[in-house]
Amino acid sequence: MLNFVIFGPPGAGKGTQSEKLIDKYQLIHISTGDLFRAHISNQTTLGQKVSALIADGQLVPDEITIAMLEEEVDKNPSAKGFIFDGFPRTVPQAIALDEFLESKGSSIAGVIALDVDQDELTKRIAERQKLTNRVDDQADKLQKRIEEYFSKTIHVLPYYEEQQKLSKVNGIGNIDDIFAELCAVIDKY
Ligand code: ADP
Repeated sequence: MLNFVIFGPPGAGKGTQSEKLIDKYQLIHISTGDLFRAHISNQTTLGQKVSALIADGQLVPDEITIAMLEEEVDKNPSAKGFIFDGFPRTVPQAIALDEFLESKGSSIAGVIALDVDQDELTKRIAERQKLTNRVDDQADKLQKRIEEYFSKTIHVLPYYEEQQKLSKVNGIGNIDDIFAELCAVIDKY
């Protein structure tokens, strides 16, 4: 299996680029944010448990998130590989993912971090809010998500840097140009 993590702050373009990558490389895209939103709209027990946290812009506890992610991977036993989007968001999640993949004789090949500055992120999410009406895209909740990113998620970068798996890509500019840069990274594997 060839597994990648697409990494970056809220609004960095992880979802947009993941869609293009799965098309080109026939990988399975797992977005924990999308999975949580599906649980919430289907009103599952898990959805009910996490909806207030997500609406408030806080991270869902690791235990819940890791269990959901592993279940999703196990639903795709014949996958050529996965693109993990929005996961891992904490170091314990990154460790759990390594252990889980190792138990399947697999690993993370590379982590691609989309680099986008805060002003651009705020601008993009304001635009997205008009289109999708995500409650967690409202200004105060967005602020909370950005804080969660800089207090917890950013520490995942050195974790992968130490393993020499991290590649940074400029996430500002034309979507297709950014995509070409991502492909150049993936094609090295
Ligand atoms: P973004 O657009 O901010 O990247 P996502 O769609 O990936 O957002 O996630 C939306 C929300 O779902 C997060 O703010 C968080 O509450 C929850 N969530 C998603 N992935 C994780 C994770 N790996 N760990 C904890 N919470 C998560």
